[in-house]
Amino acid sequence: MVDYHQFDVVVVGAGGAGLMAALYASKGASTAVLSKLYPSRSHTGTAQGGVGAALGNLEEDHPEWHTYDSVKGSDYLGDQDAIEFMCFEAVQAVYELEHYGLPFSRTPDGKIAQRPFGGHTNNVTGKPVTRACYAADRTGHMILQTLYQQCIKNHVQFFDEYQVLDLIVVNGAAAGVVALRLLTGELHVFHAKSVIFATGGHGRVWEITSNAYAYTGDGLAISLRRGLPAEDPEFFQFHPTGIFKLGILITEGVRGEGGVLINDQGERFMPRYAPTVKDLASRDVVSRSMYLEMREGRGIGGKRFLYLDMRPETVNKYAAIDGRKRPNGQPYSTTAEELLSKLPDIVDFSRTYLGIDPVSQPLPVQPTAHYTMGGIPTNKFGQVVIDEASTVMPGFYAAGEVACVSVHGANRLGTNSLLDLIVFGKHAGLQAAEYARGADFQALPADAADFARQQLDQILNSTGTEKVLDIDHEMKSVMFEDVGVFRTEESMQRALAKLEELKQRHRHIQVRDRGKIFNTEVINIWELGNLLDVATVVTNAALARKESRGGHAREDFPKRDDAGWLKHTLAWMQPGGVRLSYKPVTITKFQPKERVY
Ligand SMILES: Cc1cc2nc3c(=O)[nH]c(=O)nc-3n(C[C@H](O)[C@H](O)[C@H](O)COP(=O)(O)OP(=O)(O)OC[C@H]3O[C@@H](n4cnc5c(N)ncnc54)[C@H](O)[C@@H]3O)c2cc1C
Repeated sequence: MVDYHQFDVVVVGAGGAGLMAALYASKGASTAVLSKLYPSRSHTGTAQGGVGAALGNLEEDHPEWHTYDSVKGSDYLGDQDAIEFMCFEAVQAVYELEHYGLPFSRTPDGKIAQRPFGGHTNNVTGKPVTRACYAADRTGHMILQTLYQQCIKNHVQFFDEYQVLDLIVVNGAAAGVVALRLLTGELHVFHAKSVIFATGGHGRVWEITSNAYAYTGDGLAISLRRGLPAEDPEFFQFHPTGIFKLGILITEGVRGEGGVLINDQGERFMPRYAPTVKDLASRDVVSRSMYLEMREGRGIGGKRFLYLDMRPETVNKYAAIDGRKRPNGQPYSTTAEELLSKLPDIVDFSRTYLGIDPVSQPLPVQPTAHYTMGGIPTNKFGQVVIDEASTVMPGFYAAGEVACVSVHGANRLGTNSLLDLIVFGKHAGLQAAEYARGADFQALPADAADFARQQLDQILNSTGTEKVLDIDHEMKSVMFEDVGVFRTEESMQRALAKLEELKQRHRHIQVRDRGKIFNTEVINIWELGNLLDVATVVTNAALARKESRGGHAREDFPKRDDAGWLKHTLAWMQPGGVRLSYKPVTITKFQPKERVY
C-alpha cells in the first residue's frame, strides 16, 4: 500500500533554494515541499559570511564588476550569460529579502551592511570591494527563517522528514517523486506536473568537510540513476579555513574583517602567492597556497595546519601595511569589541570546539571540503537540460547547490551561493508553476514506487557483515587524500579501485535495525550508496580532465589548457561505468585570461 498525493509543483528540499522556489511556485500553483530534515535544519542555515550583491552601500560597486569577478573566479568555466543574469538580478533579490523582513546588519546610516570577500574586487583598482551583504555571521540562518515564514504565509504545504528516494519519469518528463516517510517507514507517491530538486551538495564524500551530515548527494544520485548526466562533477571547492581536524567552517568574513593566514615562521605568506588581494584571493588559490606551505614544512609545528590570526593587533598591523582604509577614507583599524559584534558565531565556535578565544589567540585551520560546483545541469531558468545540445527535460527543475547552471564554473566565489539560491530558486519556481499551468498530470505507471522499494529491500534483506561506518570512513579518507586539493593520475586510479571495492562491500552491508519507525540505519546505508556513486562520477571526470582549473588541481597537468579543456563535462552513470562527454562554455564578454590576484 502506497500513500498518494497530488500537487502541481513538488519541491524536494527546504533550504534557501527550495524555499525560494516554493515561494514563487506557490504564487501560481499548488505547491508542496518535501524535506528529509525539518526545514530550518537545512544547511543554508549554517551559511555565515554573506550574500553577494553590488549594492554599493559603502563604496562604488557595479553588477558589471560582480559579473567579471565571478567569471574570473570561475577560472573562465562559468557560463557568462548566466553569471551576468545572476549578478544583475542580485541587487533586486537582496532588497526583496529585506522587504520580506530579513534582519540585515546595518551601516551607520541604516543601509544594508556589506563586507569584503575573496575574489570580489573594484575592477579599476583591483582591491577588495565591500559586496557581501550580511546579517552578522548568521546570514544563511536569517535567509532560511525569513523564507520559511514567507512560505507558511503563502500556504506552501510542508512534508517534513520525508526522504525522497526516486524521481518518477513518464515519457521522458518528470511526473513526481517517491518518498519514505521516516516516522512510519511507509512509501508515499507524490504525483506532480513539475518537480524541483533543491537537495544541496555532497561534501560528505570527503573526510574533512564543513558540510552537514545530510550532504549526501541524494538529488544528484537519484537523477544519475534515472539516466541524467552530472555537469562538471570534478569541480569541488576546498575552503581554506576549516577548524583543524573538525573541518567546521571559519567564514572568509574573518579575512574580510582583516584576519590573515600565518605559517610556522610567523610569516603572513599569502602576499607571495597573490600580491594584490593577498589573503582575499579566491578560495582555490588560497587553499593550494596553504597546501604548498604545509608541504614545504611550514605548517605549524610541521603539522597539517596553519594559523588564522584575527587578533586586533595583528589585523591592525597588516591593515596599516596594506594601507587599508575605511569607506570614509579613515585608516582601517579594529577592536576586539567590533570583531565580537561582527563575528559572534565564529567567536562562539572557537570557544566551544577549540577552547580558544580568537581575539586573543590564533586559530588552527586547514582546507576543508566545502562546496559542490557541479551538479544537475540546468539553464538559467532552472530547467534541467540533459545532453550536449542542452535539451530541456519537461517538468524537471533544479536549483541551489545540487544544480549546475553554471554560474560557479571551476571555482565559486564566496557569497555567490546564497545569491544563486535566491536568484535561480526564484526562476525555477516561476518556470515550474508556469509549466504546470499548461500541462496535464501524466498517468502514473502502476509500479511507480517499485524502484524505490527495490533499493530499500536490497538493504533490508542484506545478510552481510560489512559495517557502514567502515565503508564510509574508507571512502572519505581515500577521497580526501587522493581526490582532494591536489590530484594525480596515480592517486585517482587508486581512489577508483578503492571505490569499486567499497561498492562491492556496500552490497554486503550489516543491518541491525529492520524496523519501520525512524530507521536511520537503513537511511544512512542508502545515503552512503549515493556518496559512493557520486564519488565515482567525480573521480572519473577528474581523471579525464588533463589540466588544472579552479578547484581541480592536477600535479601532473599543472596548467590550465584552454585549447583542450575550456568545456563543461557531462557524466552519465551507466551499467558499464561512467560515460563522459563535453559541451561548450558560453563566453559573451570576457575572453579567458590568466588569473592574477
Ligand atoms: C558552513 C557553511 C557556510 C557557508 N557560508 C556561505 C556564505 O556565507 N555565503 C554563501 O553564499 N554560501 C555559503 N555557503 C554555501 C551555501 O550555504 C550552500 O551552498 C547553500 O546554502 C545550499 O543551499 P540549498 O538550498 O541548495 O541546500 P540546503 O540548504 O542544504 O537544503 C537542502 C535541502 O534538501 C533536503 N534534502 C536533501 N536530500 C533529500 C532527500 N533525499 N529527500 C528529501 N529532502 C532532501 C534537505 O532536507 C534540505 O532541506 C556555506 C556553506 C556551508 C556548509
